[in-house]
Amino acid sequence: MKEHWEKIQNELNGNAKLIAVSKTHSTLSILNVYGWGQRDFGENKVQELLEKQAALPKDIRWHLIGHLQTNKVKHIAPFVALIHSVDSLRLLKEINKQALKNNRIIPFLFQLHVAQEDTKYGLTFSALKELIEDPSFVELRNVKPLGIMGMATNTSDELQIRSEFQELKNCFEIVRSHYFKFNPDFKEISMGMSSDYPIALQEGSTMVRIGSALFGER
Ligand SMILES: *Cc1c(COP(=O)(O)O)cnc(C)c1O
Repeated sequence: MKEHWEKIQNELNGNAKLIAVSKTHSTLSILNVYGWGQRDFGENKVQELLEKQAALPKDIRWHLIGHLQTNKVKHIAPFVALIHSVDSLRLLKEINKQALKNNRIIPFLFQLHVAQEDTKYGLTFSALKELIEDPSFVELRNVKPLGIMGMATNTSDELQIRSEFQELKNCFEIVRSHYFKFNPDFKEISMGMSSDYPIALQEGSTMVRIGSALFGER
């Protein structure tokens, strides 16, 4: 509903960007939200993303927010606006390769794992440092790191959620000051979903990925 979209935009207050997570929702409901002015949409599955991208207006910025398999990168490389879920050097090398083929530089975020659930993908802090320090990392000229992405544990314990967002923010600050001090583009922290985005905003989120609070329950 439009009131929900306006309420969220007011809460963001220009400090963070809304990624409308449209997974499982029809192209018609996406067009509805598009009509209010929303241009950034997020999907977690490549196949669904491809179908929607083909059917919908070409000025939509598509964000891949779910786990990405190496063999699927080639399909989204021509158009994807931001990949939130880079969790290995192997994946990043493939994105770089496909970006080069498409004569593009593809922006991405490192996905960090801080939640308690072991079902969630992402790099540990030490794996992230290892990735960045790998000699081949600096040779990847067709990808551009913009920051980090992470998810908090799915729990009603606000203190736990808050401390996980703080952990993400801390990791971001350390990584930025160690490795990306001279890269002004490295400034994004993608954290916060429908159930926890107000906490994420208080803890420094610059991008919230919101589905059900915008489109209704899936
Ligand atoms: C589905 C999803 C979201 C949005 O979840 P809601 O609870 O519907 O807001 C955010 N991030 C990722 C990675 C998702 O898969």
